[in-house]
Amino acid sequence: MNKVNKIAIFPGSFDPFTIGHHDIVMRGLQLFDEIIIGIGHNYTKRDTFPLEERLAAIQRTYNNQSRVHVCAYDGLTIDFAAQHNAHFILRGVRSTLDFEYERNIAEANKQLSGIETVLLYTRPEYAHISSTLVRDLHAHGKDISQYLP
Ligand code: ADP
Repeated sequence: MNKVNKIAIFPGSFDPFTIGHHDIVMRGLQLFDEIIIGIGHNYTKRDTFPLEERLAAIQRTYNNQSRVHVCAYDGLTIDFAAQHNAHFILRGVRSTLDFEYERNIAEANKQLSGIETVLLYTRPEYAHISSTLVRDLHAHGKDISQYLP
């Protein structure tokens, strides 16, 4: 019998993609055969880093990692997952705030499509790192390289 590849989508705005996101992907690779990083458009957030720049930076990060793919997508994450034969959504949780937010989306996605969401807790040393923090520092001319993979 053929082994069925376990494919997960890791969706997010990744504006920008941080070492916190990278850690979730690397740990996700221990659970899944393939991870597709989906750069989605979040209508409640305005982009700081252009999509092409985010896509290129993430692709560079996983250049040598054949099990990680990167795509941009529009529309619903569950539709994006179905297009890629992914049966899992991977997300990271830093705080109770993240948890409540993730729970609602995971429940909706499960009801709508049957897809399972797998949550990984952040490493404590990365719990304070968010794209928002990195964008703020960048806007004020600070070096953000320590937050980028
Ligand atoms: P979204 O706009 O969909 O919330 P983000 O790009 O902000 O997307 O985050 C994508 C995923 O990565 C989310 O599940 C978020 O909780 C998680 N994440 C963000 N920062 C970290 C971090 N420092 N550690 C672990 N998970 C993180």
